Amino acid sequence: MNKRKYDILIIGSGLGGLICGAVLAKSGYEVVVLEQSGQIGGCIQSYKRGNAYFDTGLHYVGGLSEGLPLHKVFSYLGLMDLPWQRMDDCFDLIRIGDKEYPIMQGWENFVDSLSQIFPHQRQALQDYAFKLQHITPDDMDVNAWDYLHRTFSDELLINVLSASAMKLELRKESLPLFNFAHAQSSYIEGSWRLKGNGNIIVNHLRGVIEETGGMLMTRAKVVRLNCDSNTVQSVELADGRIFEACDVISDIHPQLLSEMLDGNSKGIQRFVKRNKETENTFGMFTASLLLKPNRIRYINKNIYIYDQPNVWNFYTNGDSVSGVMVSMRIPEDGSDYVSQIDLLTPMLWDECQAYSETRTGHRTKSYHEMCHVKAQQCIRLAERAVPGLADAIERTYTSTPLTYRDYLCSPQGNAFGTRKDNRNPMLTFGTVKTPLQNLFLTGQTVCLPGIEGVTMTAFDTCKQILGNENISDILR
Ligand SMILES: Cc1cc2nc3c(=O)[nH]c(=O)nc-3n(C[C@H](O)[C@H](O)[C@H](O)COP(=O)(O)OP(=O)(O)OC[C@H]3O[C@@H](n4cnc5c(N)ncnc54)[C@H](O)[C@@H]3O)c2cc1C
Repeated sequence: MNKRKYDILIIGSGLGGLICGAVLAKSGYEVVVLEQSGQIGGCIQSYKRGNAYFDTGLHYVGGLSEGLPLHKVFSYLGLMDLPWQRMDDCFDLIRIGDKEYPIMQGWENFVDSLSQIFPHQRQALQDYAFKLQHITPDDMDVNAWDYLHRTFSDELLINVLSASAMKLELRKESLPLFNFAHAQSSYIEGSWRLKGNGNIIVNHLRGVIEETGGMLMTRAKVVRLNCDSNTVQSVELADGRIFEACDVISDIHPQLLSEMLDGNSKGIQRFVKRNKETENTFGMFTASLLLKPNRIRYINKNIYIYDQPNVWNFYTNGDSVSGVMVSMRIPEDGSDYVSQIDLLTPMLWDECQAYSETRTGHRTKSYHEMCHVKAQQCIRLAERAVPGLADAIERTYTSTPLTYRDYLCSPQGNAFGTRKDNRNPMLTFGTVKTPLQNLFLTGQTVCLPGIEGVTMTAFDTCKQILGNENISDILR
């Protein structure tokens, strides 16, 4: 048993855990972050292959422009001093078939540019832009697909507007407007890329925590939370070490947390049951491309490419890739040419399940073949917008839901936490509180995924410990 009792223990060092750690450390709390992996950062960590660092879950960030809440939080934590680069006014280019459609930063630009292509939908676009700016938790039970069809009469425009939400699991029957709107509005309000890899953010937050005497421990897998009826008494690691703290924050998937809770109160039982019943979002397949020098010019926007206007539910066609996101890494040597490109497409757990017995480092030949085929399909699609791409590739590295399961313990390799459902917001949207007085949740599974969503949830988590007024001071 570790004799010390810490102020705060944080389980998991994803962005949510690190933001909570940094905010609480800055407020004078003694923080310990426990991470099961050998590396901190969760989905925003970078990994090295050869001389290149590749990102996992960080391609662009919305809501970073001055005056927006994320900008205030990042400024408070010193993250605005990192090398951010504003993306082009047209930050997302949507390509469906052989036609291209711009998604612009700024609400007026957004409406005007699409109205030029869809003049008969100008009023609807204005209504839509207004709605996106006034979204509230009441919209959790509004279905996004229904809302879009009530607002727009042009099916192609609905596809264009939904195309960049590829990472959201566009399920017609259940996607809440709340999530759809958040995924889009923050980027329209300001889209930014980091010049460098995600580890810059991770290391900065580590510095903030360590500066005040806080600690981050890797290879520290939590396996059990010893509880009485109201509180967590101690946290136990796989290697037998036991830690005590006044408050515990969980940044891990609630299904994992539920398996660790050792306590029999009715509240805990309800919490565990509810978490067992929630479903997970799909995973992502990423082909990370290392390019030959001076072959492909850097494009300061993302390109979403679809074969056909079937953006909603397109991922159910697991065998072939019919939509891909192309994201380029800002050249760090000041050159006009890009050296790394990520191609992303959703991937269902079912597609991976056949290989799920294999562990990292022992993947079967057929798994590698499947990854190769999928990467080629992504590259073929990407070539429509980036001619010459296939010839310019030096190496291709791939990741699948299995990668997320094995490196980050993500159940079913989910990429964006638990599935939210407008038909049952009470069950599928979480809160940062739990039945245990000193256990709080944070991270993408609580409410919204993404850098903005996770950061704002982390603030909500810290509010439970710091109180409303202290948190409001930071955001002022
Ligand atoms: C492919 C992909 C692309 C993305 N692109 C973008 C993007 O461009 N822009 C954007 O805004 N967002 C993007 N995101 C989303 C964003 O990266 C995530 O929402 C965010 O990073 C999740 O943070 P989190 O705090 O929920 O923790 P996670 O990243 O889920 O981390 C949880 C941590 O807990 C650890 N852990 C698990 N079990 C234990 C245990 N028992 N004990 C100790 N530690 C444990 C894990 O190892 C992990 O480090 C992307 C995500 C993915 C997957």
